[in-house]
Amino acid sequence: MYNIFWRCKATPSVLVSAWRVLENKIATRINLEKRGIMVDSLLCCLCGLEEKYCHHLFFKCKIVWDFWSQCFVWLGVSFVSHNDPILNFHQFRMCNASATVNEVWGTVWIVVVSEIWKHMNKVIFKGGVVDIVKMFVMAQLNVWSWLTSKLTYAIFSYSDGCFDLLACMRMV
Ligand SMILES: [Zn+2]
Repeated sequence: MYNIFWRCKATPSVLVSAWRVLENKIATRINLEKRGIMVDSLLCCLCGLEEKYCHHLFFKCKIVWDFWSQCFVWLGVSFVSHNDPILNFHQFRMCNASATVNEVWGTVWIVVVSEIWKHMNKVIFKGGVVDIVKMFVMAQLNVWSWLTSKLTYAIFSYSDGCFDLLACMRMV
């Protein structure tokens, strides 16, 4: 799995953050508390309902799930999403697809996860408000930006990518 993961088209810092999510080593409140660091609350900063376990923050939270759902509609896919980070990443792999196609799908997963993490940090540290529309727009922008800048043969406009990413990638 990790050979595909590290070939995905994201910036190094984003790749490392996403890898920490896979390994449950991301600095969530509950992981910080396990290391003996005092935290003010263990509740999810997005929905305010459940404790901040990794699987809740990135996959199970109602707010996050709405974001994933928008991404699924954009990608034209539909499946029951797994709450375990590694299994969830596996769901973005196509058995009979080429390594390049799986790198593209992996990149989308990494972008979505990194956008969730960035948004949570904005809410906690900068007093930001939860804004799923903004998260979705930023995810589309980053997917387009990273794929077209790092895959030399991925040439499509941002608007085409927003309209039908899969059709754009079929031309790759
Ligand atoms: Zn939540």
